[in-house]
Amino acid sequence: MRIILADSAGFCMGVRRALDAVMNELKTKKGHIYTHGPLIHNPQVIDFLEQKGIKPLSDLRDCEPGSTIVIRAHGVPLSVKSEIKEAGFKILDATCPKVTMVQRLVLNFSKKNYAVIIVGELDHPEVTGIVGHAKGPVEVVALPEQIKSMPFFDKVFLISQTTQNEVVFNAVKDEVIKRWPDARIKNTICNSTYRRQNDVRELSRKAEAIIIVGGRNSGNTRRLVDIALELNHTIFHIERSDELNSGDFENIRTVGVSAGASTPNWVISKVIKKLEGFNIC
Ligand code: SF4
Repeated sequence: MRIILADSAGFCMGVRRALDAVMNELKTKKGHIYTHGPLIHNPQVIDFLEQKGIKPLSDLRDCEPGSTIVIRAHGVPLSVKSEIKEAGFKILDATCPKVTMVQRLVLNFSKKNYAVIIVGELDHPEVTGIVGHAKGPVEVVALPEQIKSMPFFDKVFLISQTTQNEVVFNAVKDEVIKRWPDARIKNTICNSTYRRQNDVRELSRKAEAIIIVGGRNSGNTRRLVDIALELNHTIFHIERSDELNSGDFENIRTVGVSAGASTPNWVISKVIKKLEGFNIC
């Protein structure tokens, strides 16, 4: 069986940067380190961090004095940063620079009285952080149909969660332009997401089966699965190599492998090794 691994599989810049920041802090820090929510959406990495004593924060009141609170790549609302500062804890801000750019755009446009429309997942932490930078009306939409039922606004600014599917963003954009021809629009899907999604489209054309490796709670991983499902009928979404069974690949000559932005290389390598061990010709 031929195995094709996507070049873009594995950590994106923002996730790698956040993890590096935490590991550096660990070398020098005396007090406790907490992450504001799980550092990344990957269970193996979270287990690894917990072994090092780094835990997701549940309540600021439970933190010992002198602790460091890490803001993950997804970012947080402005109010959360203020709350941590007021409580006297050190902040290690690992917000991805591309997310910071989106947060600043939202802050600036909402100060100029634009209503902000975000194409994204309502409860995703990145979206919560972006919403928390708006100073006026803000709406989160996942589908173009939602634009029709939205209240009317004088001025509209449309952006995207950084890991959204471009096809969905463009469909929403078309609806926004119908209602607000003068809307300001910025496609803020990041390059890493583009590459990853395009690689999955490419793999789906070349391979009979696609394996997507990544946390089931990871939005960007789930979107890779959705893209693969549109183009390829045999999809496996796994978190670990031991979820693979050789029987599922008996009639497969070419398998494509990709992974979400928060999947470590060592997890991907184990998947490749397991597939190689299936020894299917
Ligand atoms: S997906 Fe893009 S924007 Fe999000 S953390 Fe990674 S590099 Fe940053």
